[in-house]
Amino acid sequence: MLLVPPPALGPFYVLGLHILGGPLMHSRSAWNAAPPKKTRPFKNVNGIVIHFAGFDISPSRDTPGLLRSIQQVHQGKPRNWWDIAYNVLVDQRGEVWTGRGLTNTSGANGATASNKSHVAICALIGNGPIPPAMVDGIKTAVDHIRDRWPGAIDIMPHSQIKPTICPGDSLRTLIANGDLDPGNDTGKVVFDFLERGSRGTRVARLQQAVGATPDGAFGPRTEERVKKVQGTLYPFGGPVSGRVGPELWSYVLWTEGIEVTVNPSVFS
Ligand SMILES: [Zn+2]
Repeated sequence: MLLVPPPALGPFYVLGLHILGGPLMHSRSAWNAAPPKKTRPFKNVNGIVIHFAGFDISPSRDTPGLLRSIQQVHQGKPRNWWDIAYNVLVDQRGEVWTGRGLTNTSGANGATASNKSHVAICALIGNGPIPPAMVDGIKTAVDHIRDRWPGAIDIMPHSQIKPTICPGDSLRTLIANGDLDPGNDTGKVVFDFLERGSRGTRVARLQQAVGATPDGAFGPRTEERVKKVQGTLYPFGGPVSGRVGPELWSYVLWTEGIEVTVNPSVFS
């Protein structure tokens, strides 16, 4: 007569089912965060900026205590920021922690525009090599961000936005090699089409590739150039529509000297 589950399989068993799905992102209450002084919601996100803590952190340091101290520094004088500056933080064991979270604009990227358009991930580490568990944790964080914001395609180092050593040479190399992008492991297609009205760094890269003025704003002249290139490459640049899908994006990468693995024979 088993009307109640055996005690040994009680609540722990239920937790063990991972009912949330996917690897967990620890909540703010898990590190006892102080409330934000203010928040502003993201309207749209088109990229991810990687930061590092920049000071030595022992791999065994307790992360909740570390996050509280970072938040105190950010909210305290002289900074007086609204909240911990980062949206998501990843420790050296690969655990992923909610900072401002995925719905509130960042405060870490050093420029208002990029704080409104890019989610900030902070790797809790100083200079030196990045442990494999931490690389996995950052990829998990990227997955969480893209679940919420499918347009968050670009992953860039903080130093791409402003002059800074952040996030250090090790992370810069990993980013440049695509090693922090989970899409490169799974072959999962995460693609945000570019079309008239699109804006941002990806548009500027596209414009460079198709011979339009790289001002980051996709207007009628860029559309004209895209159609022309699609016509020349047809069918390998996708339909001649003036809309940029993965096929033409492969061409952009190719013009940038990045090895294209999608369909290499096309370009040989
Ligand atoms: Zn930074």
